[in-house]
Amino acid sequence: MNEITISIDGQTVSVPLGTTILQAAHAAGINIPTVCYHEATTANAVCRTCVVELDGARVLAAACVAKASEGMKVWTRSERVERSRRTIFEMLASTVDLSDSPEILAMLAEYKSDPQRFPGAERREPPVVDDNPMYVRDYAKCVLCWRCVQVCAEDAQYTYAINFTGRGFETQIGTFFDKSMPETTCVFCGQCVGVCPSGALKPRREWLLEQGFNPSEVAQMGLGKRKSRKS
Ligand code: SF4
Repeated sequence: MNEITISIDGQTVSVPLGTTILQAAHAAGINIPTVCYHEATTANAVCRTCVVELDGARVLAAACVAKASEGMKVWTRSERVERSRRTIFEMLASTVDLSDSPEILAMLAEYKSDPQRFPGAERREPPVVDDNPMYVRDYAKCVLCWRCVQVCAEDAQYTYAINFTGRGFETQIGTFFDKSMPETTCVFCGQCVGVCPSGALKPRREWLLEQGFNPSEVAQMGLGKRKSRKS
């Protein structure tokens, strides 16, 4: 059987065997929100935003990696699904600066998430890393989607300049031994910047202009420094 038929929110859709629930939903014209998923990277179910409810299943399934199977009944906006997504967005907002993430902010609004639900939560606020002429890294805005790591590795460039560092709340994207980017294998292809959904990675010139520096200041600004924000 090369084609299967499933039901998504009561709508019947036939898709090729091996299709994920997320792809099947797209085929049916049903939107499932995602944060870590990107068409150019391997789906990894890191963010859990795309969870859906399956008839007969005890746990919610991540639609980006769960395969559709014959006769499956999927619910993408059940109360349980919406509560789960709302909580994920609230936890994100409690620790990460989402001010440069318009798509995520739109999802927060759609799911009626309260960004203040966890008052007093510790925020991730590492200093901005400005250590090369091409791009800055502002990990206070990083949602740990893993896309940059993926395109730096097997999904595109095979460069392996960055990866996860730390554990738990201290988890961050970084370089081996916290080396500056020019000291790593980075070839400055810019693919990490291209897939970053949160503004954590940004072209250096754009970032400096946003901080209030004028173009002549930007042109003269030295390299290899870690700059704090100019407010
Ligand atoms: S820096 Fe950007 S692409 Fe990389 S993990 Fe953070 S949010 Fe994702």
